[in-house]
Amino acid sequence: MNYDVILIRYGELALKGRNRDQFEEALARSVKSVLRSFFKVKVRRNYGRMYVELHGEDAHEVMERLKRVFGISSFSPTIHVEPDQETIKTRALELIRQMDPQPRTFRVVTRRADKRYPTPSMEMNRIVGTHILRALPQIKVDVHEPEAIVNIEIRTEGTYISCETIPGPGGLPVGVSGKVLLLLSGGIDSPVAGWMMLKRGVTLEAIHFHSYPFTSERSLQKVRDLAHKLTKWGGTVRLHVVPFTEIQTAIREKCPEDYLITIMRRFMMRISERVAANTGAKALATGESLGQVASQTLESMDTINKVISIPLLRPLVAMDKIEITDISRKIDTYELSILPYEDCCTVFTPKNPVTRPKAYLAARFEEALDVEALVEAAVEGTVIEEITSKPREESNDLF
Ligand code: ATP
Ligand code: MG
Repeated sequence: MNYDVILIRYGELALKGRNRDQFEEALARSVKSVLRSFFKVKVRRNYGRMYVELHGEDAHEVMERLKRVFGISSFSPTIHVEPDQETIKTRALELIRQMDPQPRTFRVVTRRADKRYPTPSMEMNRIVGTHILRALPQIKVDVHEPEAIVNIEIRTEGTYISCETIPGPGGLPVGVSGKVLLLLSGGIDSPVAGWMMLKRGVTLEAIHFHSYPFTSERSLQKVRDLAHKLTKWGGTVRLHVVPFTEIQTAIREKCPEDYLITIMRRFMMRISERVAANTGAKALATGESLGQVASQTLESMDTINKVISIPLLRPLVAMDKIEITDISRKIDTYELSILPYEDCCTVFTPKNPVTRPKAYLAARFEEALDVEALVEAAVEGTVIEEITSKPREESNDLF
């Protein structure tokens, strides 16, 4: 079947007025940006619906991309037909015929938005339904739970028929919720946290703390590759790469071993808060999950939070490792995340990190350091890279 358009449904939320306009504009932008470089299609909006006009492009390839556009609740490959009864009957039957597997039950749902069309919706349901029943003796009508719904939309701009509805990823279109700065490590959790924030409509920037030469160029490349995976859902991601070696070395020289991780995290937060201010991000996000490791207890979160006033979001806080891993497979970051490159935390991991750190003790230990100068130098030395959704060379990503 050569489809003419993909019909996109969205806005199951009670969006009104300006919110609705912003939502629609952001969604149209996302749809265009994921399709633009690959297909010659046209995106059109009309009264709460969005259409991708295919102009001969392959519907399945286009739909594969739409599965990654947040804000889409579902979509349907659709044909555009002349609004006469015979054509509608014939083409509806054709659509059902080419479904694989063949549905055992169906119903017809007509929406007659164009009241100039003479036949009422119920009448159209009956006429088209009867035509299909006669042609396909094995199929039955089921109005409650049909395996296929033949949707006929008679609108002023045309008549559209579809019989497949494919779920979209839901969520909100990227860009409607403002900007968030994600602390992106090379692990399993933080890319998933980034994906979950994208799902809630944020524009994502990422910050990574790099401890060259203790950590290698390959490990930084891995982080770029992970950010690249996220661009498939959210468009370009700006990656802020922070030189962290000097700070880690200073902490290790001057602070007690069991507080290394805590103090290191507090530095990450201070630096991230400044980078967020510079780049207009309204919150930070991490991949922390309560109790997952020693540094992710409530006491530890409190001690880490104390040094910043910007909101710190932890979208994975109540999730199990298995749930997080499942998402990482689904979004295709898992294989990259488990590549065995050292990161700044593994290089400096003390034998017995404190599980219930105290903020006042962390602050006291930090008195041995020139916190402000160290933070300032790290922010100063931060390099910004634009990670785009284009295919990448020289990466760890072989898939
Ligand atoms: P992940 O799988 O995301 O690495 P993790 O379970 O290894 O998380 P930690 O190492 O305790 O947990 O890190 C907690 C969070 O701190 C990470 O999810 C990430 O958001 C942030 N983080 C850790 N290391 C870095 C780093 N080098 N650069 C940027 N953010 C980091
Ligand atoms: Mg980690």
